[in-house]
Amino acid sequence: MIRQYELVEKVKSYDPGADEDLINRAYVYSMKAHGNQTRASGDAYFLHPLEVAGMLAEFRLDTGSIVTGLLHDTVEDTGATLEELRELFGDEVAQLVDGVTKLTKLELRDDQAKQAENFRKLVLAMSKDIRVLLVKLCDRLHNMRTLGAISKESRRTRIARETLEIYAPLAERIGINSIKDELEDLAFLHLNPDARESIVARLEQLRSDGGDSAEQISTDLQKSLTEGGVQAEVLYREKRPYSIWRKMVNKNQAFEQLSDIVAFRVIVSDKADCYQALGILHDRYASLPDRFKDYISTPKPNGYQSIHSGIIGPSKRRIEVQIRTEDMHKVAEYGVAAHWAYKQGQPRQDGPEYQWLRELLDILEDAQRAEEFLEHTKMELFQDEVFCFTPKGRLITLPQGASAVDFAYAIHSDIGDTCVGARVNGRHVPLRHVLQNGDQVDISTSRTQTPSPEWERFVVTGKARARIRRFIRTRQRDEYSEVGRQIMQKLFRQEGYEFGERTLERVLKEFRSPSVTDLLASVGAGLIASRDVFSTAFPDHARNNQPNRELPADGATVIPFERNRTRNRKAGDPTIAIRGLIPNMAVHFARCCHPIRGDRIVGIVTSGKGVTIHTIDCETLESFQESPERWLDVSWDNRNDPDTRFVGRVSAVLANEPGSLGTLSTVIGKNSGNINNLKIVNRSVDFFEMLIDIEVDDVKHLNNIIAALRATPVISTIDRAHAG
Ligand code: MN
Repeated sequence: MIRQYELVEKVKSYDPGADEDLINRAYVYSMKAHGNQTRASGDAYFLHPLEVAGMLAEFRLDTGSIVTGLLHDTVEDTGATLEELRELFGDEVAQLVDGVTKLTKLELRDDQAKQAENFRKLVLAMSKDIRVLLVKLCDRLHNMRTLGAISKESRRTRIARETLEIYAPLAERIGINSIKDELEDLAFLHLNPDARESIVARLEQLRSDGGDSAEQISTDLQKSLTEGGVQAEVLYREKRPYSIWRKMVNKNQAFEQLSDIVAFRVIVSDKADCYQALGILHDRYASLPDRFKDYISTPKPNGYQSIHSGIIGPSKRRIEVQIRTEDMHKVAEYGVAAHWAYKQGQPRQDGPEYQWLRELLDILEDAQRAEEFLEHTKMELFQDEVFCFTPKGRLITLPQGASAVDFAYAIHSDIGDTCVGARVNGRHVPLRHVLQNGDQVDISTSRTQTPSPEWERFVVTGKARARIRRFIRTRQRDEYSEVGRQIMQKLFRQEGYEFGERTLERVLKEFRSPSVTDLLASVGAGLIASRDVFSTAFPDHARNNQPNRELPADGATVIPFERNRTRNRKAGDPTIAIRGLIPNMAVHFARCCHPIRGDRIVGIVTSGKGVTIHTIDCETLESFQESPERWLDVSWDNRNDPDTRFVGRVSAVLANEPGSLGTLSTVIGKNSGNINNLKIVNRSVDFFEMLIDIEVDDVKHLNNIIAALRATPVISTIDRAHAG
């Protein structure tokens, strides 16, 4: 355990200007506030914030961070208030403690494991001051080191999983590998002790088999470098059990196949020496060309720099060598914290502000650089989203600018339809209130409430808008049907007939209307021509009085379908026929499921827009479940020109390696498909996920292409896309 004077001395050793008094006051305040609270281990609780402050001092952080480390649990776990902290320790410390307290309140529930990425984004969003995150990471690291003291297994597991899914990746993103490695390994120890045990045993066996071979190899490397004229220090480090495990799982490799269990590090004094050292090693040992990476000329987004090279080293062993300068080495170990320590040694040019913090904030605020910085995170999403909670702690992700009504609809359509009020963080707010990150939102409902057209002006989510519109539409249906009734009455009178609902009941089937009201509403909305209704009701009258345009005898309607996105359109064939449509209705093919000939299809009537054709298994159809009156039973007409081509959409996951795209397009081309459009929706180091639009003859043709692609090794999964 670190003592008060040790903590102060440690801080003063790297920051002579540190506010000693402030640290001492925080020490005493925290000790008093935690009083005789104890931890699960039985230790005094106060030891925990003290250890956290000590760890922050290891990273050579500023006084504000150290003080925050000491105070970080006082608001959450003792009677202390933010106001009091602000009074005693100033605004900056109060804000930092508030930030850490908010992060502490977040909990990843088991059923939300798939939301890990959202949680990471949330944590980042809430850590606008990166020191909040640094304190939280040290807090978590100390909790993980003492996790064994917690007796309840489910609680240990939850904390370990949260560490693995949220905090270790965050440590990696800001480049603090030492924290990342230890967090991962401690989590691994609790989540999968057997797997870890077996890897540790294999490592020990490897060590005893090879004797001191790692030691020998580093001595040999050192000797080669000295002979070549480069002063270097050669270190070696065994990969952590968790990294080995992950590699074995991800790459599906056996322990023996891993060549980089021990990484050798060549530390030199400057950048030029890095390349000279590389030259010497490549001269003396055979290099493995596909294992070479120059992160010095192109650093990783988190600032990491090194040259990586695989060589057949001393004793003919395949090894990985990482060449870097002392400074680069510090950045690799301590990430952003190293920049701070590094700057510390230089005269401050811009007052007490910390340059590296500002740089990092700049990165977080600049969406484009941030995207690189966060590697796999789509930063635009992160900046466009807010993350809020239900009173029970469920995480609801909404677009930026979302209101309480959007939140209500996101929980459940019924809650949205009947919401009357909202409380955000305990305060009553109007329904139009715009939500912020971390807000806890409590919605109150009333069975007599209905959606208001007003809401449409401020909601931003599609779901809320669709529900509100739907409600308005039902209300409009009544209005439209009144208009339709007047139109029909007028037409009947004009033709010398008495208007009667009975007459219309006879033709409901022809127009696929469930009721006279619906039929009249369609007429009123202009979806069905009043003349068509009339002539269907009185076919003889129509034939005798005015020549009608010809309808195909079997009821199929030939509708012009503009295939503007299809490049090699066949001249003279601009139409696709579909059976079961209502005459004169406009037809669209749904963009979500891309129906193609041979698919089982269904039509959805959309007010003012006609009919949209979906595949029967399209996910979009779920939102029409409650309005069966809009469903039309349709099918492909067999009189279609067999040469008509359709555009189908597939979603595929491809290995991210040279030539995989080429293979993909070759296979499609060989099977007479034509790639129409291609969109990468997600990419990672190993794989990318894409949507591909392929022009084909029919569903059989597309299935053949999918089968051919499945047989291709670079393609991991491929399927029809039915939504999105
Ligand atoms: Mn804590």
